[in-house]
Amino acid sequence: MKKIVILGAGTGGTMMAHHLSKKLNSKEWQITVVDDIQDHYYQPGFLFVPFGNYTLDQIRKPQTSLLPRNVRFLNQATKKIDPENNSIETSSGEKLIYDVLIIATGSRIVPEETPGLTEEDTWRKTAFDFYTADGAAALFPAMNNFKGGNLVVHLAEMPIKCPVAPLEFVFLADYYFKRKGIRDKVNLSFVTPLDGAFTKPTAKKAFGNLMQQRNINVITEFNISEVDGQNKVIKSYDEKEVAFDLLVTVPVNMGSKLIEDCDLGDELFFIDTDPATLQSKIKENIFVLGDATNVGTSKAGSVAHFQSEILTRNILDFIRGKPFSASFDGHANCFIESGNKKGMLIDFNYTQEPVTGSFPLPVIGPLPLLKEARRNHLGKLAFRWIYWNMLLKARSIPFVSAHMKKSGKNIV
Ligand SMILES: Cc1cc2nc3c(=O)[nH]c(=O)nc-3n(C[C@H](O)[C@H](O)[C@H](O)COP(=O)(O)OP(=O)(O)OC[C@H]3O[C@@H](n4cnc5c(N)ncnc54)[C@H](O)[C@@H]3O)c2cc1C
Repeated sequence: MKKIVILGAGTGGTMMAHHLSKKLNSKEWQITVVDDIQDHYYQPGFLFVPFGNYTLDQIRKPQTSLLPRNVRFLNQATKKIDPENNSIETSSGEKLIYDVLIIATGSRIVPEETPGLTEEDTWRKTAFDFYTADGAAALFPAMNNFKGGNLVVHLAEMPIKCPVAPLEFVFLADYYFKRKGIRDKVNLSFVTPLDGAFTKPTAKKAFGNLMQQRNINVITEFNISEVDGQNKVIKSYDEKEVAFDLLVTVPVNMGSKLIEDCDLGDELFFIDTDPATLQSKIKENIFVLGDATNVGTSKAGSVAHFQSEILTRNILDFIRGKPFSASFDGHANCFIESGNKKGMLIDFNYTQEPVTGSFPLPVIGPLPLLKEARRNHLGKLAFRWIYWNMLLKARSIPFVSAHMKKSGKNIV
């Protein structure tokens, strides 16, 4: 029996388990997924928890309910990858030999990287994250009790997963305080190390305009050196200071501790991966997808989804001894909640900036790109159902392809 081992049962790992179990004969191939999680969270839902739109119960499912029946789930963390001997070892000391290894161990927040952030009287007292279940849940009462003052939404350093999420947070905060009738008492700031609201020039302009319309201060090129929780200020290396009463930060993101411990990643513990084939540079029978890679596109669930289709074809080629037939173009698309029950949508890849036009079909859309619309907000809300029922189960979404389509878009 040949063996495929998948490390990580998050978005990318679960999708790969479904794709491969549909394509491979279970009498010839055993697929094992290794992860210590009990619950699988729909992470885009974390954004809505602090505003009381979702509870954690509404965005989680037991991981055992999400994997195909012919896939083995080893509910432990991996503590070692040994590429030389084609094996991994789990936290209980169990050793698994593989023919093909897929690493889908994602990224994690590391608040300890920012001096002062995790001080006992600061962390989750006045400074919060919304990138974890615990963080999002702790921020809910803090938002609810906030009666006015400086609310600072901040990101420490790029890359972060879902780079639009902090923008969405600040837009939703504007809408939340307007609905509560206290927007005039809240000074909203968006603080970023980038030179604008976003990385991509066209999107940066569109989001910058929205911030201006919403009276949100944008503080750019802010490289944080310290959180001074006692005086409630964040400080930058070039001695700028921003005062906060409530800080909502996206801490430094890094690859899994496993990658750090096995010394298999770059300085942020992301894995050097061929951007087109998704084969790792570690060894030819190791492949990577999702946030764990170092490829030059967003770290997003949509990316893991498109990559899973490409990677399935390439792994089938690999085990049949054929050259790789599929190539990933960096395709990403992200809904951006912009408040007022509206949203935006961006679609881009390694070489193509986000553009205007329509998605997924030319002219009829129905979703407009780089434009605020109620349809995009409804699309974002519908995504939770699509995630559980289609994406994770490797069912294709009509008209949406792994490669970015150019038709119907105003490509320049
Ligand atoms: C607030 C927020 C909002 C977001 N919004 C969007 C959005 O609107 N659209 C979008 O496309 N994306 C969004 N994302 C990003 C999306 O959730 C991730 O990009 C996606 O989940 C990445 O999938 P992954 O499989 O690479 O990692 P994950 O889904 O994070 O899974 C990684 C898995 O690896 C496991 N793991 C780690 N180390 C080990 C180990 N040593 N042994 C075994 N298992 C291990 C973890 O336990 C985890 O289960 C959002 C994320 C956040 C936090």
